[in-house]
Amino acid sequence: MHILLTNDDGVYHPGLSALAYQLRSIGELTVLAPDHNWSASGHVKTLHRPLRVWEADLADGTKALTTDGAPSDCVALALLGLVQPSPELVVSGINPHANLGHDVTYSGTVTAAMEAAIAGVTGIAISLDTPEHHEGPVDYAPAAVIACRLARQITQLPLPEGVLLNINVPYLPLNSIRGVAITRQGLRVYRDALVRREDPRGRPYYWIGGEAPSGVADHGTDIGALAEGFVSITPLQLDLTALPEIPLLEGWGLGLD
Ligand code: MN
Repeated sequence: MHILLTNDDGVYHPGLSALAYQLRSIGELTVLAPDHNWSASGHVKTLHRPLRVWEADLADGTKALTTDGAPSDCVALALLGLVQPSPELVVSGINPHANLGHDVTYSGTVTAAMEAAIAGVTGIAISLDTPEHHEGPVDYAPAAVIACRLARQITQLPLPEGVLLNINVPYLPLNSIRGVAITRQGLRVYRDALVRREDPRGRPYYWIGGEAPSGVADHGTDIGALAEGFVSITPLQLDLTALPEIPLLEGWGLGLD
């Protein structure tokens, strides 16, 4: 099995190298990841400038490819023929923070897996729920082991077309994680605040600041599963149609006059 590994934090991020180390045990691995941090860049398709690709060395000395494109560009490049043989599995991560609820619409980690699903390839996003005020190096090893075990199983199973998996791992030692929960998206609570300052020339600039998002830890949701000590697997679909609302809108009788 040929696996493509990417991320949205950049090719030198330790979350990526931890996952690369594990994934090499289950297949042939190609790493193609952005040359800088694209976190919260959403789903990108770069169409108006060239994309450059060059070699990079990971911290353990293994070879990787890097590009000035976005995470989803990495997947598109690989699946359009840059990487041979064409990857059968795309893994994105490990993101240093959880991607929960509405985060999936911002997340470069998740949108890389979406790009795989669009191309008809199994896509898995892996994020670690590192505590907000964690100090010192983050331990990605338990999440990398779990991601690898799950990836090995998932590739043997019939994941429907257009579905990708958003996996979030609690920040716990391996033997303290209680299991795997299949979840739905929970409700993220954003605490963004607009910060207005002045640059040295007296012109205003704006920064979206504020505190990290919190969330409602309902049972059955991604947020709830992490709070309960479970790995959360949320199946996401590319069809965002609000199907139950179609009769409502039809009933509105919207017309052109
Ligand atoms: Mn990130």
